[in-house]
Amino acid sequence: MLRIEGLSCGYGAATVLHELSMQVERGEVVALIGPNGAGKTTTLQCIAGHVPAKRGKTTFADEDLTARAPQERVRMGIAISPEGRKLFGDMTVRENLIVGGYSRPSGATAANLRRVLDLFPRLEERFGSLGRTLSGGEQQMVAIGRALMAEPRLLLIDELSLGLMPKNVDICYQALRKLRGAGIAILLVEQNLTKALEFSDRVYVMDTGRLVWSGTSGEARSRHDLADLILGHA
Ligand code: ATP
Repeated sequence: MLRIEGLSCGYGAATVLHELSMQVERGEVVALIGPNGAGKTTTLQCIAGHVPAKRGKTTFADEDLTARAPQERVRMGIAISPEGRKLFGDMTVRENLIVGGYSRPSGATAANLRRVLDLFPRLEERFGSLGRTLSGGEQQMVAIGRALMAEPRLLLIDELSLGLMPKNVDICYQALRKLRGAGIAILLVEQNLTKALEFSDRVYVMDTGRLVWSGTSGEARSRHDLADLILGHA
């Protein structure tokens, strides 16, 4: 469904991703892992259209994304839960979620809001609370919920479990299992290697802006030097 071929991108004159090629199929869960600064966030931001491509081609459902603005990509079915969650701190949970539906012709529908609250019952309890008063876990739930308000076919999630209490990590992964069951493809950046390999179908390992390994999560689990590879010592 998502096909990236020879993608190079970066910030200003600096190129951060070099000749990246990867795919995510319909309903697939793919983990993107690697050390700090490897380019994982940049990859997600480039797919979302927030960082421009310098070279290469990205298609989604056979449509070329190159000239598509971020909001068009959302309309096509790509939504992101960004690193750091990026909620509007002075807006309530309800308002933050509604923002996620703006790109849809039908806007934020009551049915979509209901689906998010059923997925994360905690958000119903915090519905009127301001974004800045939420715990890290609650913020992550809102960030995922906000992305879901756009009815994505591909969900990009940056640093799912970073800084979250284990209980909230479990809640988020339970929600992702349900989304996967509903056929939504997920491209996940995750520091927690165990969780990433447990949950994903396939894995890409990046280092300094390049792919250094890819395979099924089963292959990754049996590769005992994977942690070293990620730390760049293999
Ligand atoms: P982390 O796990 O630390 O978030 P990452 O794998 O997500 O790392 P990126 O955040 O994509 O890596 O960073 C890749 C490279 O791009 C790094 O060298 C970083 O310094 C650089 N970079 C990231 N954001 C910017 C920016 N806005 N302007 C300039 N350079 C940037």
